[in-house]
Amino acid sequence: MPHVGSDADFADWRECRDCGLFQRLPALDDGQAATCGRCGALLRRAARNSVALGRFCAAAAAIFLVLALNVPLVEMRVMGRLATSTLFTGPAMLGQKGLPALAVAVLFTLVLLPALKIAIELAVLFGSLASRPPRFLAWLFGSLDSLSPWAMVEVFLLGAIVAYTRLEAIADVQVGPAIWALGGVMLMLVTVDATLDHEEVWRRLAHESPAEPDRGPAARGGEQGSSATRDPVGCDACGRVARAKVGDRCSRCDHRLQVRRGGHAGVWAMLVTACLLYIPANVLPVMTVKQFGRGAPSTIVNGVGELAANHLWPLAILVLLASIIVPMVKIASLAVLLVLTHRRSGARLKARTRLFRFVRGIGRWSMIDVFMLSTLVGVVRLDLFASVVPELGALAFCSVVVFTMVATELFDPRTMWDAAEPAW
Ligand SMILES: [Zn+2]
Ligand SMILES: [Zn+2]
Repeated sequence: MPHVGSDADFADWRECRDCGLFQRLPALDDGQAATCGRCGALLRRAARNSVALGRFCAAAAAIFLVLALNVPLVEMRVMGRLATSTLFTGPAMLGQKGLPALAVAVLFTLVLLPALKIAIELAVLFGSLASRPPRFLAWLFGSLDSLSPWAMVEVFLLGAIVAYTRLEAIADVQVGPAIWALGGVMLMLVTVDATLDHEEVWRRLAHESPAEPDRGPAARGGEQGSSATRDPVGCDACGRVARAKVGDRCSRCDHRLQVRRGGHAGVWAMLVTACLLYIPANVLPVMTVKQFGRGAPSTIVNGVGELAANHLWPLAILVLLASIIVPMVKIASLAVLLVLTHRRSGARLKARTRLFRFVRGIGRWSMIDVFMLSTLVGVVRLDLFASVVPELGALAFCSVVVFTMVATELFDPRTMWDAAEPAW
């Protein structure tokens, strides 16, 4: 662990979430940003009005989401018959046609987790207006980062667009208002993610009253008297550095302090499982498109081929990248990062940290194919005329995405820097 002067006041100190360096957060003017001195990770971007903007965007996102859940998503007309689907029709049909696990995955990532994310943002940002915001708001705000990768509104939108484009080639389809409402949810959430100044939110959530002065850097829960002799520990949830023992609660966000997330054994287990499932995910069919009762099952590769055959090259390349290349790149990259860490390599640590950020950023986009299937199954259900039946390969594929994402969340990039400590 990096050495920090023994009499330092840790109130301004933060641990870099990517490399574990403890460093003092400089005073920033509006619009300025502070990055980690070692790996370049963004520590803070100061934006004075970001909390007010966040309140507006979270409220608008909530309204857009309620709207999206209550209006049509896609409408399709075949031989005079009309089929309308909402966001819930796809998961309902997936459940009915034998893949309830896939239905649950779509409901969680498209509806429940985005709704939870918006609810936490609303509670925290409006709750911070109170003179003494309740303590649980800090805990909720500290949980937001681990929740975010699983809220996939923007990935669903892309999946729905791919589904729409495929349908447009064969039937009379119309985009419903739910797509535009989801676009609104996405824009609002992205704006909050990109602009919210977390340090400003923490400052507003802090308990600071004359009757009970801030306990300063010491964590709650430990004996105050002996805290001065303890080593500083960084909080995994909020980045605050404090003299405390592992297992105490963070004075700022109330999460339990831990030095590093999990171990590498869990990451390996997830990667090996993902690797094994990658085979059925690509070999087994993901769906069968039936027209007038006839149709052949198709795999992910068939789907890419079909898009290419219809000269929809950008979409073909997109699905090829998201469904076939990205999972492979993720598994291979994480395996390389793990092996280099085991070997205590100090080579190209900054580049390896960048690679980890990249892998973490792209992982969720592999869900495009699952969302495309959910959209297709939801709207193409005109019995004998046309229907789309989900197949087992889709479940295997969704599992690959989930296992690689869990592996990425379990892997702690700071362990790469810990392992190489003597070298740099
Ligand atoms: Zn760093
Ligand atoms: Zn914390």
